[in-house]
Amino acid sequence: MLPQEVLEKAQKELLNYKDSGMSVMELSHRSGLFIEIIENAEKTLRKLMGIPDNYKVLFLQGGATLQFSMVPLNLKQNGKAGYVNTGSWSKKAMSEARKYIDVEIIASSEDENFTYIPKLDQKMFNPDFDYIHITTNNTIEGTAFSEIPDTGDIPLVADMSSNILSEEIDVTKFGLIYAGAQKNIGPAGLTIVIIREDLIGKAKKDCPIMLDYKTHSDSGSMYNTPPTFPIYMASLVFQWLEDLGGIKVMEEINRKKAKILYDFLDKSDFFTSPVEKDSRSLMNIPFVTPTKELDALFLEEAKANELETLKGHRSVGGMRASIYNAMPVEGVERLVHVMAKFEKKHLR
Ligand code: PMP
Repeated sequence: MLPQEVLEKAQKELLNYKDSGMSVMELSHRSGLFIEIIENAEKTLRKLMGIPDNYKVLFLQGGATLQFSMVPLNLKQNGKAGYVNTGSWSKKAMSEARKYIDVEIIASSEDENFTYIPKLDQKMFNPDFDYIHITTNNTIEGTAFSEIPDTGDIPLVADMSSNILSEEIDVTKFGLIYAGAQKNIGPAGLTIVIIREDLIGKAKKDCPIMLDYKTHSDSGSMYNTPPTFPIYMASLVFQWLEDLGGIKVMEEINRKKAKILYDFLDKSDFFTSPVEKDSRSLMNIPFVTPTKELDALFLEEAKANELETLKGHRSVGGMRASIYNAMPVEGVERLVHVMAKFEKKHLR
């Protein structure tokens, strides 16, 4: 979801942005009006996340998936990196990284179908690692790190695609944060990278120019034409968050939303969630009924109540409520109401 207010603002400005007679989609990326948009986007994001001056914010393309290769291509020095295996996206990140660097799995929850976040300890952090990679929120499995590990001098790299801007984080704990925009930031087509300056400029000579963080850092994310409209939409979302009261307030709302659904699941004799309690995600909540047939029936019932996109990922089945920032509390309340009615009807 995108916030309704953001969509309405974009609609209002769609044909004639700030009296330019043009849509943002028609502005040159070198025009004053667009430069103002990208600068505002960066400024607001810096404020929201408390990004220190020694970190660069890059507006890129290629999705989080391209970061699976850009990270090792840019950070490889000794040739070895530690990865925490917490789900399908971690696995994809590792299989891409293996093309460029030795990947060592330092912890994994694959033994229990990724239903928990493994405990990490200092002994796992080999000082020879060029970086350690985690997926802070596992979109498909519905798990999230409740604590960010302290990896000392080893840069911590995080795929934050599905929980960036959802709760307060300390950026200084990370060397690099990346996220595809399409969950909490804006429409697809934009990828955000937040990178500590000393990690820029280490790519080998044969690294393609578009995959070198230095290219984008030196050119203010304007080496070539950036995804202008998604950047504009992101700037509206950042402003919406700022007007709401920032990430602290957003986090309170997200905790409230997740609690409504988790409390219901904990009480239910019919719906269950496979995820261990201390590893629960605030953004993605998977759940099932006692049978696959009832899952399918529930999805139909949900649709009839205007509850969309509840089907679990094709790799795990069941249901998954993705309650990103823009989902209002009422959306979760309606879901729980429909679940309670369904349970009453089908519980034997
Ligand atoms: N990582 C995570 C945690 C994700 O949720 C996703 C997308 N669902 C990706 C990576 C891949 O992102 P993209 O489609 O932007 O490449």
